[in-house]
Amino acid sequence: MTLQWVKVDKRRMCPQCRAFITTSDKVCPYCNTKVGPRAVEQRDPGPILGGLIPHAQFVTSMILLLNFGLYAATRALQFALRRRRLDGC
Ligand SMILES: [Zn+2]
Repeated sequence: MTLQWVKVDKRRMCPQCRAFITTSDKVCPYCNTKVGPRAVEQRDPGPILGGLIPHAQFVTSMILLLNFGLYAATRALQFALRRRRLDGC
């Protein structure tokens, strides 16, 4: 993966000679390399949350599921312990 500018900026880097060019340049003025569309623009449409989470894949989903599972288990355990304590007293 090449270095990309995170900020919305007119600047970008030529992948060939790493000179700073603008997004409107179709051809690098320094080395005359044809510059493709930005990675943001060529990303396939339809990622979840409108691209807010660009690479939510299997591992991310599993971590989220595990996280929620632990939360649910903690809540259930809390509920059970509180109930037992109330019954005991
Ligand atoms: Zn260049």
